[in-house]
Amino acid sequence: MAGLQDSVQYLKGIGPAKAKLFEALGIHTIGDLLYHYPRAYEDRTRLLPIAKLEVDVPACFKAMVMNSPRTAHIRKGLELTKVTVADHSARLNLTFFNQRYVTEQLQYGREYIFYGAVSGDFVGYSMTNPVFESPDAPPVLTRRILPVYPLTAGLTNRAVTQAVAQALELCGPPPEILPREIRETYGVAPAEVAYRAIHLPRSQEDLEAARRRLVFEEFFVFSAALGLMRASRTVAPVAPYENLDLSPFYGALPFRLTGAQRRAIGEILGDFQKGVPMNRLLQGDVGSGKTMVAAAAAYCAVKNGKQAALMAPTEILAEQHFRSLAPLLEPLGISCVLLTGSMGAREKREAREALASGRAGFAVGTHALLSQATVFSGLDLVITDEQHRFGVSQRAGLSAKGIRPHILVMSATPIPRTLALLMYGDLEVSVLDELPPGRQKIDTFLVNESYRARLNGFVRKELQAGHQCYMVCPAIEEGEAGKSAQAWAETLGTAVFPEFSVGLLHGRMKGPEKEAVMGRFARGELQILVATTVIEVGVDVPNATLMVIEDADRFGLSQLHQLRGRVGRGQAKSYCILVSGNRNPDTQARLKALCKTTDGFRIAQEDLELRGPGDFFGQRQHGLPTFRAASLTMDMELLRQAQTAAVDWINRHGDEDTPEATALRERIGQLFREEDVAPN
Ligand code: ADP
Ligand code: MG
Repeated sequence: MAGLQDSVQYLKGIGPAKAKLFEALGIHTIGDLLYHYPRAYEDRTRLLPIAKLEVDVPACFKAMVMNSPRTAHIRKGLELTKVTVADHSARLNLTFFNQRYVTEQLQYGREYIFYGAVSGDFVGYSMTNPVFESPDAPPVLTRRILPVYPLTAGLTNRAVTQAVAQALELCGPPPEILPREIRETYGVAPAEVAYRAIHLPRSQEDLEAARRRLVFEEFFVFSAALGLMRASRTVAPVAPYENLDLSPFYGALPFRLTGAQRRAIGEILGDFQKGVPMNRLLQGDVGSGKTMVAAAAAYCAVKNGKQAALMAPTEILAEQHFRSLAPLLEPLGISCVLLTGSMGAREKREAREALASGRAGFAVGTHALLSQATVFSGLDLVITDEQHRFGVSQRAGLSAKGIRPHILVMSATPIPRTLALLMYGDLEVSVLDELPPGRQKIDTFLVNESYRARLNGFVRKELQAGHQCYMVCPAIEEGEAGKSAQAWAETLGTAVFPEFSVGLLHGRMKGPEKEAVMGRFARGELQILVATTVIEVGVDVPNATLMVIEDADRFGLSQLHQLRGRVGRGQAKSYCILVSGNRNPDTQARLKALCKTTDGFRIAQEDLELRGPGDFFGQRQHGLPTFRAASLTMDMELLRQAQTAAVDWINRHGDEDTPEATALRERIGQLFREEDVAPN
């Protein structure tokens, strides 16, 4: 007997060739097939009299064939079959293109159920290519709600529908992972019912109930996974911090903090005194000054005799943070250490000793902070920057180095509320909605290849004025999708801008190599930096006033917004040019929207709706699994319920050996096998 983990080739009608097509959809096993939910449904349950059919609105009707169908050969490759049908209300002419078999199937004087849309003009109504079946046959094409599956070339909706029906019959639905108690409390349908109904719904109500259950299930599994990974599962009290005078810190800053920065710091200090661990998201557009808020929090923690750590996703970024924070905090009596993977063994050991002994109060680093070898004497504040680039387990890892530490996550990508809730659990949010004074709007333009000469002229003009330019490409090497940074840097350096110095930066370069290139660009030795999205989170080069993004359609909107935040950091007017030859009207509209707005939150919301959470941050760098049933913008309430249910369940029964608990742990395992954190 075939099981859920068996290949789809166990199903009738699926051989190696067809299996390849299913594979293109990410479907390998019978289980995958059952998790492949329809993307839409066609409601063919409405049965109307012909006279009530509305133009262009497909519906079913029952009618009698009034003459023998006739086929006319119009020209090579075009045959028209015509027949007239009628019910008590009206007659209707049907036309079939290249479906000669209709002549045998539709018999004069008999009744059939048809499904199609009428088209009409002043000459009269007619219908083209309706589907039909006998009223005595089981409803397959008519009188039911038909699933519409995501497809791939060569695979018909019918083939997928049939495969799914067969799979359900052969193996039954996936095992129940929601305990009865939870299903009853939250009013969600059993797996048995839901998996059948999502694929073969008998009514809209069926479908709604199935969807609700599966969305709940997805959220539940994900929340349970997070719950299991959290270092401590309950919110236990912690000692509140002393109220602290921050004026020495403020006094040491080279600038006045913005109102938004002060407000965020106030909120964080408030959390420190509450007596429970803080869980706060600090959200602010690129350049809004999140680092200083983090510094204030660290200052406060260390002055309370604790340790603080700031983890950044790249070495460049960690080093930049260290360079700006250590000179500020050291004079205030806070000993800082840097810890990154590419540091020498001795340096690393020294940094770790300082943290283990408590000699250092503040650690800045990359995921080197997470390694076994890193031990803190009293880590109590964990700050992660550009947090979405870390996997879920990495995030949990740093917290585990302290005992119920305070957590501050910082993000420049304005994460829509639902997504934030999903990723971080219930957390407080501070928003930096104000940029430091003197910042300016970055003029953004969308062009295609026909502007190349003018674009090059513009770049040349900026460079001659003494400014610098970023050129962003989606791919590293040639042969990958989109323009390759390596090849483009070569072309620019030799053929297009031989008079300027061109550098290359991408994620496959070694740490010190990257650092060297970035350093040369920061010092103005390189005028053009060709890069991949590694520069998305990054260093400050105020003299860079122009960013050109090649094959811009290959990036997410939020990602583009984030990238463009690399320019406009100095006094001079800055520009971002999006180059894209993609003529798809939706794509064009998206990119044009980016030219018009600078509101990161609106961009993010739009992105989420367009791309879905799985792709939200681009490249799946966020450690979020793909959600199949859940629409994150719509299912807020359900998410909350599922989260409550999951946390509660995990606390009470997470380790038990009941079938549900076992099945749940298995599903969680599957979820994170998909997780892959690899910066571009
Ligand atoms: P982000 O929020 O993108 O992480 P940063 O913290 O890197 O922003 O700050 C961007 C730049 O603005 C840095 O050079 C920082 O020193 C500077 N900055 C931060 N706060 C202020 C302020 N209140 N006034 C002026 N400059 C500031
Ligand atoms: Mg930053």
